[in-house]
Amino acid sequence: MTDVASASRLVELQANLIAVRRSIATACAAAGRDPAEVTLVAVTKTFPATDVSALAGLGVTDIGENRDGELRAKAPAVADLGIHWHFVGQLQSNKARSVAAHADVVQSVDRASLVTALAKARAGADRPLRCLVQVALSGGRAVDRGRARRGGMAPAGVPALAELVAGSSGLELAGVMAVAPLEVDADQAFAELARVADRVRADHPSATWVSAGMSADLEAAIRHGATHVRVGRALLGQRLAAG
Ligand SMILES: *Cc1c(COP(=O)(O)O)cnc(C)c1O
Repeated sequence: MTDVASASRLVELQANLIAVRRSIATACAAAGRDPAEVTLVAVTKTFPATDVSALAGLGVTDIGENRDGELRAKAPAVADLGIHWHFVGQLQSNKARSVAAHADVVQSVDRASLVTALAKARAGADRPLRCLVQVALSGGRAVDRGRARRGGMAPAGVPALAELVAGSSGLELAGVMAVAPLEVDADQAFAELARVADRVRADHPSATWVSAGMSADLEAAIRHGATHVRVGRALLGQRLAAG
């Protein structure tokens, strides 16, 4: 590899990582949970592959991206680092093949047609593609534009979609994921997700992952059982481009 992060960037990432790991540890202590139960997924969207390799050098094992183009560019650039790649963005079916080729996990499975496309793309691969069903949380409110914008399957439709993933060769149902709606209390939203996760786990005992919580709400997510937190800004800094 020729490009590496600057020394000052490395120092910045290291300090941010220490702070984020401390927040996770504090939230776990408050919830009576073991921090080893919570995987940090660093969301590196809009940031360069040099940041990914710097984070990997600091011990981060899981990296998230929300656009096929960025995943396709960065994953091969750091292919030797043993990173687990998570796709966390809305995914068009025509990008399923590319994402299935580069990701280890797709956290944003939100409809049956996407399951079909991912299964077809991953057929014959040596490892299954881990999938999380993305849940559209309402926090008890009526469906609104915010829900549509942030994506996901309504809770009532989640068990059937989970069943479809579990029955698809090439795919492995790992659990559920959600983004808390902006206008809803995070505790209420993540409590709703925990109920959906319990329901999915009752049908599929190995689907234990609950991906919830971002920079702003990871404490609430950990309180409600998150096994994966997806942290962008608190680790990488403010994004300049839209992401
Ligand atoms: C960008 C993004 C994150 C990280 O958000 P931050 O607020 O930067 O921590 C988490 N999850 C998804 C789905 C994202 O798109």
